[in-house]
Amino acid sequence: MTATFVDQAIEELRASFRGELIHPGSPEYDEARTIYNAMIDRRPAIIARCVDTGDVIAAVNYAREHDLTLAVRGGGHHGAGLSVCDDGLVVDLSRMKGVRVDPEARTALVMGGATWAEVDHATHAFGLVAPSGIISTTGVGGLTLGGGIGHHTRRFGLAIDNLIAADMVLADGSFVTASAENHPDLFWAIRGGGGNFGVVTAFHFKLNPLEHFYAGPMFWDMSLAGDVLRWYREFLPAQSDDIGGFFGFHIIPPGPPFPEDLWNRPACVIAWSHSGPTADAEAFFAPIRERFGPPLLDLVGPIPHPALQGMFDGLYPPGLQWYWKADFFSELTDEAIDRHVEFAAQLPTWNSTMHLYPVDGAAGKVANDATAWNWRDAKWGQVIVGVSPDAADKERITDWARAYWEALHPHSDGGAYVNMMMEEGQERVQASYGENYERLAEIKARYDPGNIFHMNQNIRPKV
Ligand SMILES: Cc1cc2nc3c(=O)[nH]c(=O)nc-3n(C[C@H](O)[C@H](O)[C@H](O)COP(=O)(O)OP(=O)(O)OC[C@H]3O[C@@H](n4cnc5c(N)ncnc54)[C@H](O)[C@@H]3O)c2cc1C
Repeated sequence: MTATFVDQAIEELRASFRGELIHPGSPEYDEARTIYNAMIDRRPAIIARCVDTGDVIAAVNYAREHDLTLAVRGGGHHGAGLSVCDDGLVVDLSRMKGVRVDPEARTALVMGGATWAEVDHATHAFGLVAPSGIISTTGVGGLTLGGGIGHHTRRFGLAIDNLIAADMVLADGSFVTASAENHPDLFWAIRGGGGNFGVVTAFHFKLNPLEHFYAGPMFWDMSLAGDVLRWYREFLPAQSDDIGGFFGFHIIPPGPPFPEDLWNRPACVIAWSHSGPTADAEAFFAPIRERFGPPLLDLVGPIPHPALQGMFDGLYPPGLQWYWKADFFSELTDEAIDRHVEFAAQLPTWNSTMHLYPVDGAAGKVANDATAWNWRDAKWGQVIVGVSPDAADKERITDWARAYWEALHPHSDGGAYVNMMMEEGQERVQASYGENYERLAEIKARYDPGNIFHMNQNIRPKV
């Protein structure tokens, strides 16, 4: 797009736009186009920082009428950098914050650009939670629309299982509130279908009471990884839904608050969450603390919910290089565990990891065709992430993640969580939506026949 066209576009847009219009000549341009994954470096022509739904409507209409590539930015966390485009226009929701909790109805109205830290803070005041992810700087927008897996998945389901309605600006610039009663097909599609169907300007969530919370990570030496994983695959699925725990491989970070004698020590970890009464939690964890000898590090205890939600934020600040690969698994076979142990021994940096997130419990009790999310029969969402602060490590972390994924993929259910993969082509998107893809493509054809919203794990409109 030429500088003259950008100037003209900004002048025209300004007539109907209250927020900021940022372009390559603006002093804040580089800050505004920067997203969480430093591997992504894109240069949009216009960043439309919206302050209200009117701004979103104006920006979507302008992009459509002028045939501009359109990207929508929530929290900017997607690994593939789906919230920013080259040339084109970014609808940036980062100024559209705000959370209103109704403690009597146990609901929250959350603006489309909020992050989970903001939701957790607002809801905690009332002893309520909306299930989300494990890093509180993540955007509500992208995480929810892709599904939303976190500490409370077994207890309260996915983020989408707690979505009551969504205020949306559609491809033609019209505004709807999608819910079970209003545009039910659209409401079905946005629960897992990502940003394919429009811009969500506000999410209406059901909230859940959380009276007790006892949680945190428990680390064991990496030499125990195979034993811990073989025990975990049987143990966790047999527990009641108020027990959560994701499994991971980590190198213990070389810095405080970790004890110096453990710095750089390869370890396996289970990040537990127990939302039953605290006295029961002590009894529950006592045998686990003995099971493999004393853990290397045991940070499990009573904790305020937002503290757990933000516990890992400091390990993963914005600006690192990230390369993601994912898949779902219904079982962890002995052979798969052997491959895990092999690749865990080759973690390329201390920031790199593999996590297995449980998706059974409450999330698994929802029917597979009740929402667009296709993995209700799976037990774990696996993610392998090569991460480094150093751009020179790009190839090393990417190669490790790809080789690890290739070794595990034959043991998987064949598709992945769309929020934890890079842009991997249409075949992978279809595999990830499985039997729900066809219906999604039909709904896409109705709501976005021109595929204006294509900066996402793209569902092509059915022709
Ligand atoms: C450090 C880290 C930890 C993570 N942990 C978890 C986790 O525990 N659980 C989990 O489920 N996921 C997790 N994720 C993945 C996360 O869900 C995705 O990266 C998600 O896309 C982030 O949402 P966002 O709004 O920040 O992203 P963005 O990059 O802003 O957006 C991602 C996609 O969603 C679209 N989008 C965003 N907001 C809106 C909106 N309001 N309306 C329409 N479309 C929108 C964008 O256009 C884009 O296609 C994590 C990611 C990171 C980087």
